[in-house]
Amino acid sequence: MKIITSTQEIQKVTSKLREKNKSIGFIPTMGALHEGHLQLVRESKTKNDVTIVSIFVNPTQFSPTEDLTKYPRPIEQDKKLLRREKVDILFYPSTKEIYPTDFQTTVTVNQLSRILEGKSRPTHFAGVSTIVLKLFNLISPTNTYFGQKDFQQCIVIKQMIRDLNLPIIFNMVPTVREPDGLALSSRNIFLNSQERLQAVNLYQSLLFGKKLILLGNKNVQKIKSEMDNYLQKYKLIRLDYIEICDSENLSPLKVVSKKAVILISANVGKTRLIDNIII
Ligand code: AMP
Repeated sequence: MKIITSTQEIQKVTSKLREKNKSIGFIPTMGALHEGHLQLVRESKTKNDVTIVSIFVNPTQFSPTEDLTKYPRPIEQDKKLLRREKVDILFYPSTKEIYPTDFQTTVTVNQLSRILEGKSRPTHFAGVSTIVLKLFNLISPTNTYFGQKDFQQCIVIKQMIRDLNLPIIFNMVPTVREPDGLALSSRNIFLNSQERLQAVNLYQSLLFGKKLILLGNKNVQKIKSEMDNYLQKYKLIRLDYIEICDSENLSPLKVVSKKAVILISANVGKTRLIDNIII
């Protein structure tokens, strides 16, 4: 596996690949890799000549109240996992390389960045879309792979690709879960044993919501309050939101009629977790 840390070098290498008509699959990550990330890698490996993973803990998507310094950075373990998956190139730039001191541009997908996660994290998605566009420009991938776990992020990036006519195929990969159903996340290591036990109920509540819909319930308010009731039992879970939205564009639904997604966000202890289920 080739490890590249400079923006110039990655641009040089990827433009050579394009000259040779090689397809490039690209997976942006913040590291602390787990099976969820590796599933994206495996998808890319089956469809592209070359697979590139980036590891960059992007400071601009953290708010001042979120602890950027505490984000796990087990880089040697990450390299080992990526080598095992036969990733061709790891792009691992420093913060200075990505954001030189005179950096001043932000790309924002306006409406989609304000709803759901954006309500309590107002600068988050601008940070995400800006870094992802920058990485797309450095790598010019044929395909890019994102996890369904971060459903709103998928919709934001898809919208940016459309709005800016980026010649990139977006691929969403289903959420990889622990055996009990908890969505894998780099943040799960922050859960203590009690919190970890209760955290699984986020997914249980999503399954419960989906079941209500499949049984014929269409009233979004009713389904949301039944899910909320279900979660009341778990005292370590502090719900931020449950929303039922159109899965194409995240517009909120009053009645479950078309393709819907249920999204949930909660603090379990001090750890913010998100999850979702497509109906
Ligand atoms: P992150 O390192 O958290 O920025 O995540 C990098 C990519 O991995 C994003 O596209 C995430 O949606 C995806 N990802 C994270 N957790 C999972 C999971 N449990 N299943 C599938 N994809 C995931």
